Amino acid sequence: MNFSKQRELVKDIVMQSHDHPTAEMVYNRARNIMPGIGMATVYRNLNVLVETGVLNRVSFPGDIDRFDNAKDPHDHAYCVNCKNIIDIMIPEKTKKKLMADAAQANGISPINCKITIEIVCDDCAQNN
Ligand SMILES: [Zn+2]
Ligand SMILES: [Zn+2]
Repeated sequence: MNFSKQRELVKDIVMQSHDHPTAEMVYNRARNIMPGIGMATVYRNLNVLVETGVLNRVSFPGDIDRFDNAKDPHDHAYCVNCKNIIDIMIPEKTKKKLMADAAQANGISPINCKITIEIVCDDCAQNN
């Protein structure tokens, strides 16, 4: 087994996915390309890629972790109904204001601000 090739494959799969795949989804896609690859290998490589800042782990309460390209910073809208995740942009000045307000109200020193907005997505809204 070539370890760097496995890592490269795991990375490429997440980079090319726009659906914020779970580890299991990454594993299933990896297996189609490299049939010998194991679930533990996929998990381990996902963790390393998150630790090295190549990928983002996206966590929502009550849902399993999803993985995302860390290159372009962005925020997420999360459908509370179907758990679909949509990339969104929140203006930098809005975040700066939020961090400044949070600092003042709580005596904390914010370094970053990740925002998740809960939504009912268009698909779910249409089916109601
Ligand atoms: Zn939905
Ligand atoms: Zn995203």
